[in-house]
Amino acid sequence: MEKIEKNLDKIHQDINTLKLAYEPKIIAVSKQQSIESMKLAYNYGQRAFGENYLQEGLTKINELKDLQIEWHFIGPIQSNKCKQIAEHFDWVQTIDRLKIAQRLDQNLINKKLNICIQVNISDEESKSGIMLDDIDTFIKSLDQFENLTIRGLMAIPSNTIDQDILKEEFNRLKLKFDQIQRSRNYFDTLSIGMSADFRLALECGSTMIRVGSNIFGKRNYD
Ligand SMILES: *Cc1c(COP(=O)(O)O)cnc(C)c1O
Repeated sequence: MEKIEKNLDKIHQDINTLKLAYEPKIIAVSKQQSIESMKLAYNYGQRAFGENYLQEGLTKINELKDLQIEWHFIGPIQSNKCKQIAEHFDWVQTIDRLKIAQRLDQNLINKKLNICIQVNISDEESKSGIMLDDIDTFIKSLDQFENLTIRGLMAIPSNTIDQDILKEEFNRLKLKFDQIQRSRNYFDTLSIGMSADFRLALECGSTMIRVGSNIFGKRNYD
């Protein structure tokens, strides 16, 4: 077995030992990773991939266009990039501005785009994302966009290995997620958990984990 297949195997095993009532979705975060690595993951059975940078993502989408891949955009979005993101991606997980949602919606022709609202759960000034208290209002304002399907919430927690802090942040998000889900169709996605914390995130109710380095190895720039 190749390293990447072993890594994916290990992640699936880890998930199995948690004995969850549902099967969480794994997004293979492939930024800065090669097409060859992505093909290995695909051959293992991985179908959803996440990219942070538009140009890199578009190149890969083109090179892998014969494969049945579900593409997730998980990076910051500039408004002049919305047209191409709308055209080429299946999901956008980093919605935190009305203007961006509007631009995406305008550029969708005969296509729906799944979106997650990015939430700021760490309260750090610099982070992107909507504050928990502002989510209800923000979601209502997104309802006008008929081509966007609001699938859930996404967050990047505090940059810490302190399990108590992470758990507290995940739990707050899960409470909000449950509350919103009670009154909304299609709202089924809680996208939390990365390489370092996906087990904890799943124990806290994550339905979608975004795993990069644990699948592909270290990226060259970080
Ligand atoms: C890079 C990235 C990930 C994956 O991070 P790893 O620690 O490599 O698993 C997940 N989510 C987002 C938004 C990212 O930018």
